[in-house]
Amino acid sequence: MPRYAMVIDLRKCVGCMSCAIACKMENSIAFGVFRSWVNMTEKGKYPNVRRYFLPRLCNQCENPPCTAVCPVKATFYNAADGRVLIDRDKCIGCGYCIEACPYGARFASPTTKTADKCDFCEDLLILGESPACVKNCVGQCRYFGDLDDPNSVVSKLIAQNPVQPLRPELGTSPKVFYIGADILSQAQGGRRDD
Ligand code: SF4
Repeated sequence: MPRYAMVIDLRKCVGCMSCAIACKMENSIAFGVFRSWVNMTEKGKYPNVRRYFLPRLCNQCENPPCTAVCPVKATFYNAADGRVLIDRDKCIGCGYCIEACPYGARFASPTTKTADKCDFCEDLLILGESPACVKNCVGQCRYFGDLDDPNSVVSKLIAQNPVQPLRPELGTSPKVFYIGADILSQAQGGRRDD
């Protein structure tokens, strides 16, 4: 069984938002909400100014605080592939999981009135393809694969590079890993609405 994960090389992100747009198109995400987005942080003073880009999405945490608070068990860790999923038929739209996620990765869907977030593009996974954000990344900074396969691209990148998840001190064990610690430290701290 796979345990899906993503590696994002921050050194290659150009901040073009192709990932966010591709995600919206693939998953028919409503106006004003995002399953995938890019935080932008500007540091310095003119003329020494730099922008740092931090692509964001659900971290598919191994120890997800969002599932623990669901009163009807509509959201759960799927041991079959390592993703955190939402059963929209069960979801009552209470919003507890949205508040519990420390990464701001969840939102209330204006379309379904249920909780929503990234699922690594369920429909594409069924076809054996990578998520839309990976396939459409202009900087080619996103990599997707099976964490339990030592020959997968994500396992190799993690073995060969220093990688870091977001906020490891929370103990959530995210499965989205970033390469580029210097960029991460400059860019971290923002939610999607920063
Ligand atoms: Fe849940 Fe947020 Fe972790 Fe995704 S990033 S699994 S929504 S706690």
